[in-house]
Amino acid sequence: PTGLPWVPTAPPINNHNIRAKRSMAFNTLGLSEKVLAAVEAAGYKEPTAIQSGAIPQVLERRDILGIAQTGTGKTASFTLPMLTLLEKGRARARMPRTLILEPTRELAAQVEENFAKYGTNHKLNVALLIGGVSFSDQDKKLDRGTDVLIATPGRLLDHFERGKLLLQGVEILVIDEADRMLDMGFIPDIERICKLIPFTRQTLFFSATMPPEIQRLTETFLQNPARIEVAPTSSTAENVAQFLKAAESKDYEKRAALRELLEGAEDLKNAIVFCNRKRDVTTLYRSLERHEYNVGALHGDMDQRTRMMMLDNFRKGTIKLLVASDVAARGLDIPEVSHVFNFDVPSNAEDYVHRIGRTGRAGRKGTAFTLVTGEDQKYLDAIQTLIKKDIDWLGDAIDFEAAAQERKARRKAGKPSRNARSSNDNEAAEQPKPSNRRRSQSKPREVVEEQMEELPEMLNPTPVSNLPQRQTGKRSRNDKLEPAFGAGVHIPAFLLREPRPKKAS
Ligand code: AMP
Repeated sequence: PTGLPWVPTAPPINNHNIRAKRSMAFNTLGLSEKVLAAVEAAGYKEPTAIQSGAIPQVLERRDILGIAQTGTGKTASFTLPMLTLLEKGRARARMPRTLILEPTRELAAQVEENFAKYGTNHKLNVALLIGGVSFSDQDKKLDRGTDVLIATPGRLLDHFERGKLLLQGVEILVIDEADRMLDMGFIPDIERICKLIPFTRQTLFFSATMPPEIQRLTETFLQNPARIEVAPTSSTAENVAQFLKAAESKDYEKRAALRELLEGAEDLKNAIVFCNRKRDVTTLYRSLERHEYNVGALHGDMDQRTRMMMLDNFRKGTIKLLVASDVAARGLDIPEVSHVFNFDVPSNAEDYVHRIGRTGRAGRKGTAFTLVTGEDQKYLDAIQTLIKKDIDWLGDAIDFEAAAQERKARRKAGKPSRNARSSNDNEAAEQPKPSNRRRSQSKPREVVEEQMEELPEMLNPTPVSNLPQRQTGKRSRNDKLEPAFGAGVHIPAFLLREPRPKKAS
């Protein structure tokens, strides 16, 4: 299908959360000239709701309780006033002036990028303490005196215990993504760190949700905070065109429907494909690989290094499609994603809004497609209720009533549900063209899983010119994607090797 309708072009900053509740210019918030110049250079026209709420309070040295998620402009809501405050004073060796705690290395790296972007007019030392980087390099940075230290809790405590870091000079402590810290079991570390920093510090605390454990933490460690809550995610950006596409329930049929969407999508530069389950991320990733898409995968069971490299390759454009689970993708700011595909309708309606929010960021156009099966009515209804609108169907809408009747009849006849995941989930029906068959014969599940364990190998894309056995002479799928995005098809080395026999356990 071509000529998908775009929704009318929206105003420049029109993400529901990116739009400030009351229009207020950046220069009324109390930010310094240097910071305002950087904001202007970034092209931001007006502050978002969390920014106009938090920035003046931070500048007045109040504690902040910010209830906001990524995508709301939350990072700038603390980096901008911090930069302003840091203009006075200077850093001493091994005594950072400010400390930002992030749950993951990716988020820590993202915050560092924000300091680089907004701090172009400042001469500040920013250090990142995350795993996977040598202690000695990090020690050297700390020795030079750090204005801004961005760290994951475990790594920070490692440095502290080695005596290389003194925390009594910290004037501002930022605890970001607190609810994710909770999910990841970091709360005891956070409590320890809070106790190591002078009581007189200013604390800026951010969380998307407020479960009781987080509430308790804020009561213990924040002093009379200014509470800024941005509207819970319930609407999707107006500049994201959203479509539903009816699909059969069987996985291989759904995969075929997804490929059809990928082929038909206009202006597809790069996309995230969301699955509900980690296992499906793996299966779909492999299927798309077989069909010669330039694809990567991201899910919670992958180690941090692999995830970070995968994301990096996606950002650089060496990977154009990223198959991901919700957990892996949450909180990541991936610029310029042109499309989002929901391989599954998310069972949690808010996840839909998060997923869609990956595209159309900061006023850009985006498109989101959702594959819907006859069994998804309940979830689809919940989404449409939450976002307060009906999403258009691309092609025929599903007759859910009829689908339910059919299921009932099948149950009566003793046939399994069409959605049943069975071993006859017919891979053959989606066999790619003959040239590709050698690698695509179905493999036993253990082999598939073993190969997924070798996932890091796919992070070093091998140029297709180095792989004579794969030069089929036919156009790759990625040719339709913009050439600026990279070297073409990459083939993970593991797909070119004979499978190893599974080790006896
Ligand atoms: P964050 O919620 O911090 O992850 O920010 C989400 C995205 O919004 C980032 O790509 C920022 O560059 C962008 N952004 C932040 N503040 C603004 C603003 N005031 N206007 C437009 N875009 C913004």
